[in-house]
Amino acid sequence: MLQHKIAELKKQKNAVILAHYYQIPEIQEVADYVGDSLGLSQKAAETDADMIVFAGVHFMAETAKILNPSKKVLLPDVNAGCSLAESCPPEAFQKFINSHPDHLVITYVNCSAEIKAMSDIVCTSSNAVAIVNSVPEDKPIIFAPDKNLGRYVMQETGRELLLWDGSCVVHEAFSADKLISLIQQHPDAKIIAHPESETHILKTANYIGSTAGMISFVKQHPEHKFIVATEAGILYKMQEAVPQATLIPAPAKEDNNCACSECAFMKMNTLEKLYNCLQMEAPEILVAEDIQNKALYPINRMLELSAH
Ligand code: SF4
Repeated sequence: MLQHKIAELKKQKNAVILAHYYQIPEIQEVADYVGDSLGLSQKAAETDADMIVFAGVHFMAETAKILNPSKKVLLPDVNAGCSLAESCPPEAFQKFINSHPDHLVITYVNCSAEIKAMSDIVCTSSNAVAIVNSVPEDKPIIFAPDKNLGRYVMQETGRELLLWDGSCVVHEAFSADKLISLIQQHPDAKIIAHPESETHILKTANYIGSTAGMISFVKQHPEHKFIVATEAGILYKMQEAVPQATLIPAPAKEDNNCACSECAFMKMNTLEKLYNCLQMEAPEILVAEDIQNKALYPINRMLELSAH
């Protein structure tokens, strides 16, 4: 069985498999650690494995490489990108920064290594509010690339942020109309949403937080019913954590097979690609040395600020 072969190869090569909550269940089962972007960055920073296989998307594997320049970092499908990261091209972002030279630059981890290299601090959805709050109040801030997360952070901190106009296709795909009719069908359900979702979806939510935060929230109410507004891959770990709970994926605008929102990039990774990648030690993720050096500082700032 492929999962056993992966486990054997992993041992032979002293590799660690880090998987995001949005990966398919079969990959989550063979991973050494499953988590959100913050947890995965922390694990990548502390691993003593020789090789990191990142079952996630490109910017996540890049972050692991920046934190571990001497280790081999592999991504099962090199085309697993991210619409949010792509919404912030480096050249245009450099111009944006240049036209606001007095601003501190905070970037959400869902961006390329080049964008991180232009940043002062990186953040994830788990710590974005705390990181913005750590900046002196009189310091103006650019927040990129996700405008929806940026708006949410503005609301939570009461700070004005200069937002880059980027977004994630998956989190913008939730249909407010369908969600309202779902709420009418399940008036007893609590709505939990990721802050990358649009403001009108967040307004309906009983809880807003990162994927790890959403799982902690449902654990506090293990027998409840939840409508879950984030990528549908999270339902696997969530259901494992609260087997008695009823979990309903928030509906997408488009009709699709599972009537929920899936990230096509995250789902490019398969068990077979994971096995091949471990065996061939490819595709390998590399980051140019100058970018790696510049991007390390803002990532480490985030890890320091999130350590307590
Ligand atoms: S769900 Fe959105 S932000 Fe996350 S990897 Fe997919 S496209 Fe990027």
